Amino acid sequence: MVGPGGRADLHCHTVASDGALEPAAVVRLAAEHGVQTLAITDHDTLAGVAAAQAEGRALGVRVVVGVELSARTTHGSMHILGYFAEAAPPLLLARLAELRAGRVERAAKIVAKLAALGAPLDLEAVLARADGPVGRPHIADALIAAGHAHSRQQAFDRYLADGGPAWVASEGLAPIETLALIRESGGVSALAHPATLRLPDRQLAAIVQRLSHHGLDAIEVHRPEHVPEQRHRYGRLAERFSLVASGGSDFHRLEGRVRPGDTGEPSLPGDTIDRLWQRLPSAGPGGHPLPSPP
Ligand code: AMP
Ligand code: FE
Ligand code: FE
Ligand code: ZN
Repeated sequence: MVGPGGRADLHCHTVASDGALEPAAVVRLAAEHGVQTLAITDHDTLAGVAAAQAEGRALGVRVVVGVELSARTTHGSMHILGYFAEAAPPLLLARLAELRAGRVERAAKIVAKLAALGAPLDLEAVLARADGPVGRPHIADALIAAGHAHSRQQAFDRYLADGGPAWVASEGLAPIETLALIRESGGVSALAHPATLRLPDRQLAAIVQRLSHHGLDAIEVHRPEHVPEQRHRYGRLAERFSLVASGGSDFHRLEGRVRPGDTGEPSLPGDTIDRLWQRLPSAGPGGHPLPSPP
């Protein structure tokens, strides 16, 4: 079922971070699946957006500037999506550069721990594996190439998992700082894949309440892997805290069944981003004009 305004997908990855396809290819797949509004949300970078927007203009797909940020919490990382009215918000770009530099430093610390554990790696070779921000999956692949692990999962289980022997906590922002960065950069925010927080209902509700007090705008309700019970649960959270029910495919690669535009049934309404723009302080009478479709 596709509602008025067509189909939207507000969560997609490209080669600019850990996706496998070029931005233009992601836009083409989205267009083939009837997507009219697509956000490119690579981890810690906007590098894929311009090429996606160029393809979007050619194909009539509205491409939204987005990013996925990893906020650090005491029990692991929380992913928060940002969507921006402006193509290159200066504050955001400056902070993203710092976050990427922090990731290189962290990779170096992990590589030093691995050497002490008898699994030496060449740091330059690890960094060369990453087109965009370097992360533990790149280190896992380097461990496999060097014969220290048979699979990514084994590399995580032996060395890299949260709390594991070679793990180093990420130096990312706290969730509330992340929300502030997005808002100060003229953007709106969404809590990504709430299920991965693995929190019981009441604790999740308490956290979403706190985040909404600090400016959270949306929560992902429409995702391909969500069973009806999850859509219902997260949809109710959205209602309770006056958040927009957002979502997306979280597409990374063609292996697997998820394609751009797959957001589960019912699919994400095409006007979701417009409802998000309404929450910008500049929206409404007397404010700045809202970003318009291409
Ligand atoms: P990083 O951004 O460097 O902290 O890496 C995070 C990524 O590592 C996640 O997006 C997952 O793809 C992967 N990851 C984290 N923990 C595990 C785990 N226990 N097993 C397998 N993959 C994991
Ligand atoms: Fe990813
Ligand atoms: Fe994520
Ligand atoms: Zn993602």
